[in-house]
Amino acid sequence: MHYAGTVFFSPYFHITNVLCSPHFKVNLISVSKLLKLKTYDIHFVNDICTIQDVKSQKMIDLGDLCDGLYRLRMPPPSHSSHFSDNITTFPCNKVSSQSCNYVSCTSNIHIPSIAPWHFRLGHLSNQRLSQMHQLYPTIHVDNKSTCDICHFAKQKKLPYTLSSSIASSKFELLHFDIWGPIAKVSIHGHRYFLTIVDDHSRFLWTILLKNKYDVPSHIPNFIQLIQNQHNVTPKIIRSNNESEFLLSEFYASHGIIHQKSCVETPPQNGRVERKHQHILNVARALLFQSKLPNFFWSYVVLHVVFLINRVPTPVLNNQSPYHVSYNTLPDINSFEVFGCLCYASTLQAHRTKLQSRARKFVFLGYKSGYKGFVLYDLNTKEIFISRNVTFHESILPYISPPTQSSSNWQYFTPSHNQTHFVDEPVSPPLPITTPPNPPPIRTSSRTKHKPAYLQDFICPSSSNKQTHHLTSKYPISTYHSYANLSNSHSLFSLSITTRIEPKTYTEAIKHDCWKQVMKDEITALEQTGTWQIVDLPPTVKPIGCRWIFKIKHNVDGSIERYKARYKITIEKTITVEDSRYVPEI
Ligand SMILES: [Zn+2]
Repeated sequence: MHYAGTVFFSPYFHITNVLCSPHFKVNLISVSKLLKLKTYDIHFVNDICTIQDVKSQKMIDLGDLCDGLYRLRMPPPSHSSHFSDNITTFPCNKVSSQSCNYVSCTSNIHIPSIAPWHFRLGHLSNQRLSQMHQLYPTIHVDNKSTCDICHFAKQKKLPYTLSSSIASSKFELLHFDIWGPIAKVSIHGHRYFLTIVDDHSRFLWTILLKNKYDVPSHIPNFIQLIQNQHNVTPKIIRSNNESEFLLSEFYASHGIIHQKSCVETPPQNGRVERKHQHILNVARALLFQSKLPNFFWSYVVLHVVFLINRVPTPVLNNQSPYHVSYNTLPDINSFEVFGCLCYASTLQAHRTKLQSRARKFVFLGYKSGYKGFVLYDLNTKEIFISRNVTFHESILPYISPPTQSSSNWQYFTPSHNQTHFVDEPVSPPLPITTPPNPPPIRTSSRTKHKPAYLQDFICPSSSNKQTHHLTSKYPISTYHSYANLSNSHSLFSLSITTRIEPKTYTEAIKHDCWKQVMKDEITALEQTGTWQIVDLPPTVKPIGCRWIFKIKHNVDGSIERYKARYKITIEKTITVEDSRYVPEI
């Protein structure tokens, strides 16, 4: 445990003295501790848990039963858990309470410390990272791990053969193409982007567009830029046949040859088409990584182009497009993980002595023409550019809403690979981790998806692969690691996950402990005259009953008692075992 503080779930619901362990990926609340506060009442009814304010008797939160735990229905992120400014040990207490949302307690996405460059450089392959290591010795290559995002985001290259010809000088040949329309309009209303590739240096430019018809005005501006900055006029422009590129008068006045690909032969414009695939592959990876909503795609694309220009490529003899263009190595010291947490200083002129000196942001890249970073304010939802920024690269603070179907991702270190492939074959193993004759895996080849309630959790598998004597569809032990828990916490977690409550009468009747509590329950029902046994009238359709089994734990994880409740089911289809009127015990 690193810190203690107060967690605010809503204006009416908070818990004090909460221990924060940044590496523990699941937030647990002890019901007994909560009841000791004497400010909340907690009720468990079937699969629902309600929390009431003792004074007002209002319901302040609701939890749904998920695999043995009740998951609270959190309020929207802007009001979610929140460290107040009265904590003394949390490093954030220097900034205002408003800025302290989601730092460690609920931010469940972390960048693995062994692979920062893989994430900073847009999920660059290990081969390319090794090449960069030769140029920048500080870049570390983690050859042993497997990254989910790379598998989620990257796709096959276009099927036609690659042309190896390269223009002999810069700006001799430029490739133009438009990508879009994109279904999701960007945060600033863009639906397209224009991509320009210099054939010689492979340097990339991207111009965001709200409308395709803006292209004819951007082309002359771009040519002007090249003339002013590089003192050269491009000789050939190559594009497809889209009407936006047909500027014959402009080309003629500047002595530029316009080459068009033949109708329905996009491979003739393949260089820029492949660049589009490359941009989109990396953009997908950064969106998955950061969990930012898709309307941030415009910032992602600009950041990806920034990265691609600075990463060495075999096509250029292990030089980067930037290196070829400017004849100098790009400076990679200011590279940061896209989507990471950062704090920017507030302007001195805009604050009083007692006001917060920093605001909390998500890093969105760099803006050309500015010596600063593009930032997204988590509280005000504003986009900001600032120079005075402190980065926390290992934390990705944006929490996507539970409804968003963005995939959860993991970075598999070798110790996790083995168990993961057996338990959850969602990610194909890399060749490097696969033995020559891999043992047969008896799990289904069908892709399994985690249930929605686990989407927000990072779930490195624990090493517990034992088959439980009572089956549970998603035992929590499959999804989280106990490695960073204290002994008592670990014991508690193990207790609640390895002791599985039976779901049916058939499962329960095999065990004496459950037999006994069912007997007690029937006795109690009979003593209170809950029912009378009568013949079923011919026109009446009987409703069913079912058993519900619960294990109550003490705070140290030991079992307090077993509970069996005999409940009437109304909507549920009655099964044979459920509809036993008086079960045989
Ligand atoms: Zn990756």
